[in-house]
Amino acid sequence: MTSNFKSIIENAYQHTKPLKDQGKLATYIPELANVNPDKLGVHMTKIDGTSFGVGDHLEKFSIQSIAKVLSLALAVKFLGEKIWTRVDVEPSGTKFDSLLLLETYKGIPRNPFVNSGAIVICDILISHLENAREEFLEFVRDLSDIPNLTYSDNIADSEKATGYRNVALCNFIKSLGNIKNDPAEVLDFYFDMCSLEMNCEQLSRTFSFLANGGKKLNDGKKILTSSQTKRLNALMLTCGFYDESGEFAFKVGLPGKSGVGGGIVALYPNKYTMAVWSPRLNANGNSFKGMKLLEDITTHSEMSIF
Ligand code: GLU
Repeated sequence: MTSNFKSIIENAYQHTKPLKDQGKLATYIPELANVNPDKLGVHMTKIDGTSFGVGDHLEKFSIQSIAKVLSLALAVKFLGEKIWTRVDVEPSGTKFDSLLLLETYKGIPRNPFVNSGAIVICDILISHLENAREEFLEFVRDLSDIPNLTYSDNIADSEKATGYRNVALCNFIKSLGNIKNDPAEVLDFYFDMCSLEMNCEQLSRTFSFLANGGKKLNDGKKILTSSQTKRLNALMLTCGFYDESGEFAFKVGLPGKSGVGGGIVALYPNKYTMAVWSPRLNANGNSFKGMKLLEDITTHSEMSIF
């Protein structure tokens, strides 16, 4: 990592840390309310393998919806193009847990990153894998190089106890014919998937295959074809930030994905991935300081895809 990049990241952190943040924790998952809201960390991994982080970048947090990109990657790897008959590729323009458009589009979610879409992806994985819960975990262990990665029972149980909207979404899609398995089994897997925890360093490394044409950085193992990689990156750009995806492209200018745990991962194809974490969320459910910090980095480095 060049000293120039290090100082851009360091400065962005120093600019962002003191900002007044009126955002709120995602308390609708009770376990997420126990997090220190003032945490802030950032880590960049370049595709030459060098990496650099500042602040709370080595502290684990709940990656939540960021995991939806990884479940989609596994589903695309197994199913290829057939997957797009079950889930669309359009921004939803509605909240991440909205039921609204499902009736209009006959149970086909607008994209794989809103909750309804990610629930359908879980259903697809259950239909095609012997043990989707274990095989997905193995897949992420391999991508992240964290051999002992496990689901967080505390977070999954906390969400299972209160996830009424997700239960409603899954049952509604089932009634429209686009969930093939038992809704209870699909939801269990969905909640487990969202319960994974990583720190910014691990998250930026895990996503580096998407900045590297579909190949893992450390051993060159091919995870996705370059065309599949292009598709996932395009979906992150257009649908990765709930109904604030336009704003993120406008301000930061990179494909990425956020989660209600306050994490964001963003990447520049063939150059780098970055992960940030700051738990207070803005009104659209994205990390307030996370977005500010990334905007500062791409502005000062003049490195956005645009
Ligand atoms: N597990 C969360 C939910 O279903 C994920 C939401 C998110 O991070 O956007 O509500």
